[in-house]
Amino acid sequence: AIDRTQRDYSAAVKKALERKPQLYIDGAWVDSSGGETIEVEDPSSGKIVSRFVEATDKDIDRAVAAARTAFDDGRWRNMPPVMREKIMHKLADLIEEHADELAELEAIDVGKPKGMAAAVDVPGAASHIRFCASWASKITGETVAPYTMPGGMLFAYTLKEPVGVCAQIVPWNFPLLMACLKIGPALGAGCTTILKPAEQTSLTALRLADLVHEAGVPAGVFNLVTGYGHTGGDRLVKHPDVDKVAFTGSTEIGKLINKNATDTLKHVTLELGGKSPVVVMPDVDVASTGPGVAGAIFFNSGQVCVAGSRLYAHKSVFDDVIEGMHQTKDFWAPRPSLDPDAHMGPLVSKEQHERVMNYIEAGKRDGAAVLMGGDAPSSDGGYYVNPTILTDVNPQMSVVREEIFGPVVVAQRFEDLDDVVRDANDTQYGLAAGVWTKNLAAAHQIAAKLQAGTVWVNTHAMIDVAIPFGGYKESGVGREQGREGIEAYLQTKSVVMKMD
Ligand code: NAD
Repeated sequence: AIDRTQRDYSAAVKKALERKPQLYIDGAWVDSSGGETIEVEDPSSGKIVSRFVEATDKDIDRAVAAARTAFDDGRWRNMPPVMREKIMHKLADLIEEHADELAELEAIDVGKPKGMAAAVDVPGAASHIRFCASWASKITGETVAPYTMPGGMLFAYTLKEPVGVCAQIVPWNFPLLMACLKIGPALGAGCTTILKPAEQTSLTALRLADLVHEAGVPAGVFNLVTGYGHTGGDRLVKHPDVDKVAFTGSTEIGKLINKNATDTLKHVTLELGGKSPVVVMPDVDVASTGPGVAGAIFFNSGQVCVAGSRLYAHKSVFDDVIEGMHQTKDFWAPRPSLDPDAHMGPLVSKEQHERVMNYIEAGKRDGAAVLMGGDAPSSDGGYYVNPTILTDVNPQMSVVREEIFGPVVVAQRFEDLDDVVRDANDTQYGLAAGVWTKNLAAAHQIAAKLQAGTVWVNTHAMIDVAIPFGGYKESGVGREQGREGIEAYLQTKSVVMKMD
């Protein structure tokens, strides 16, 4: 039996947990105008380990005012671009220097294995800042050669200007990574920002604010407000002095945010949910495909927007692929996040645990068969779910249609390629998809037909800052990362001059 007792925390983490609950506004740690705080729970044990501020309306307004002033007086956007770049590289360096502490904080806040946070979340966070740092000095407009209009000769050029004050709202599954994915392009473009982390996971955002300060980002350019979405988040989204909202989270809240941002016609980018299909063709190497598609769903306990949660394997390889997934069962067995052998931790919270177990039960009630897992392992506290494979499902079942956001995959056999493409696309979502095949032509043909912002071939969830990322259909609006990622924080001004 696996010992599911959480390990002791390091001294650096204990210190971070004991910090006074405060907000980072206008270049300083400040007290909230109210006295409410939110508890931090370690999902590996269920124990309360810290608390942070629940920001009031007044706090939110104060943060927006600081960001507004810092944008309007040009202290950041008018700084020599190489200086902005240098400060951002310093921030990336600081994230790397504090990698161990940040990975541990992420592990005890989200429940993800520390080794995974150290391999994925923290380096990914630093990469986002670095990639966007380099953009800072490479943003340029265009010139339009002079030409004659009826009224005279015109000459025009464009300026790429930062969109302004950004409200950036992120979820709990990759807190530091999502925070840096948001603030990177905002800072690189010359915007100012107010970041609101998820109420479940604010620990690394608090440390990030320390590092932003140490890196020398001027006061007011980056502000951190912690608290709930329906209060602080909502106020940010509706605030008349905010120019852009960048949100990552559920499709449900994304739709609400889009509506709420409409009254003030803010720029909006939305990165939302998914129910990503993974198509396994008959020609695959089954030895590597089984573990590959297991990783596509069980990574981060399935709490991944691009999780490969609908598996379609050709009937000739279905059993072998499931067998290959089974062979990874011990590897993915959930353990406390600080256990060095952990590859999968608990789910983030009691609420998420209930949600996932309810989906599994609903699937069973609807007639799905359990090929693996389907239950929660024994533990003394903590929100563990065993990696689960369901089959004998139909397209109407909630486990097939809805985003579970847990380690649960629905596995189906297919025979005909047209049928599987139709089934794969039969969803409100369009975030990502996967194809496993050795047939190059088939890979490209299927990739062209799948309605998804990213299609992986013989891999899954390989996400990098240089590659644009975003959703089709109800999985999002706009793109992050790559060139498009920085452009989402710029607007074009045309300067048109009469030459005669
Ligand atoms: P959520 O939508 O409940 O919350 C996300 C954030 O929005 C939190 O910070 C929350 O406080 C805030 N929020 C909630 N209500 C709000 C409101 N009315 N106004 C303003 N802000 C509000 O999502 P979650 O449960 O934290 O995260 C899981 C979801 O995120 C999943 O659906 C997942 O697919 C999605 N996600 C998408 C991506 C992507 O890049 N597409 C990445 C990670 C997660």
